[in-house]
Amino acid sequence: MVPHHDTVTDLDQELSGRLGQIREAGLWRELRRVDSPQGPRIRIAGQELLNFSSNDYLGLAHHPALRDAAAKAAQDFGAGSGASRLICGSLAPHHQLEESLAEFKGTEAALAFSTGYAAALGAITAVLGKDDVIVVDKLVHACCVDAARLSGAKLRVFGHNDLDDLERILRWADGRGAEGRRGRTLVVTESVFSMDGDLAPLKDIVDLKERHGAWLMLDEAHATGLFGEHRRGVAEAFGVAGRVEIQMGTLGKAFGAAGGYIAGSRVLADHLVNRARSVIFSTAPVPAAAAAARAGIEVVAGSDGAQRCHRLWTLVDFFKKGLVDSGWPPGLVQSAIIPLMVGDETAAVALADTLRASGVFIPAIRYPTVARGAARLRATLSAGHTAEEVTGAVAALVANRPPAPVA
Ligand SMILES: *Cc1c(COP(=O)(O)O)cnc(C)c1O
Repeated sequence: MVPHHDTVTDLDQELSGRLGQIREAGLWRELRRVDSPQGPRIRIAGQELLNFSSNDYLGLAHHPALRDAAAKAAQDFGAGSGASRLICGSLAPHHQLEESLAEFKGTEAALAFSTGYAAALGAITAVLGKDDVIVVDKLVHACCVDAARLSGAKLRVFGHNDLDDLERILRWADGRGAEGRRGRTLVVTESVFSMDGDLAPLKDIVDLKERHGAWLMLDEAHATGLFGEHRRGVAEAFGVAGRVEIQMGTLGKAFGAAGGYIAGSRVLADHLVNRARSVIFSTAPVPAAAAAARAGIEVVAGSDGAQRCHRLWTLVDFFKKGLVDSGWPPGLVQSAIIPLMVGDETAAVALADTLRASGVFIPAIRYPTVARGAARLRATLSAGHTAEEVTGAVAALVANRPPAPVA
């Protein structure tokens, strides 16, 4: 008998062909096994690398408070959660997490999801249907695009941070209403864009959506924990948090754990419990994840969080200054995400490989995560880095700088 693993199926043949094309286009991706905890230094294939690739912005993923909270929750509530939240999986750690989230965000309520991706999917499909319109920034994260498609609402895309284009689409949506069509309009954008690190003109967007009677969903995945007096995000920093109907974020980046959330009114949270399919039809997150996230929120909210945040911004300035002084100015940079534009996919991967060989891990980001021909290195900083580590990364970048970087 032919062993199972030798069986080449028609599916495998078809997929091998497609993978060949992916390789040829310089778009091959593979998983890298990391043999250490997350941190400023990680170990891959026996090599210790300076890590400038993580979204663990405040260095909390390996923080003792989070580890202890996860361990204690596993001891007290077990490894698994047993069922979906609506059956018998809504454990005390999930409720405590949501209380902490709402308090941290300054909202009436919050609902936790298993991931940020699941939060977007659940929230958008719960709020919108085929009579509605969803208007997204061209660069919003894949989870919001997928959710928009799944919702069945009419999807319109506005140019990245282009207020005129957004207004044009909102006027068109007003026209639909005037024709007597039912249906509402939801605008979706990110506060800090994940691959470019630039900020949305949030005050103007809030004014605009209000003039047109639309709602706003704001994805603060890369801003929560880093911006605003209480580190709630860019909506807080711009003083518009109370005017954003649906505030979304992840528990897997600055909060150092895993999961996603929607923060807003009690009515919104109740509606999501009744309608968000990614909550209703999915096993609740493990208690350890919920407890770690809650501990992460507590660290971020306290003086340790304030110090880490301050330290992160100091390191970002230091990193940027090093690049500017070397004649390789980073693009629009106002966040902990620093894109270094290369353009060509193969060149970006080659540069990342060279850096990795010299002990610095800054990943190449390519299509389909960004547009074709817009490949880049995406450096992210963490409060856990030392000034020497940042200097080391800048030196490696400058030494291997491609001849004509596309700015
Ligand atoms: C990471 C990310 C998400 C998804 O969050 P996960 O918790 O990782 O699923 C959503 N939106 C943006 C902008 C992100 O960067």
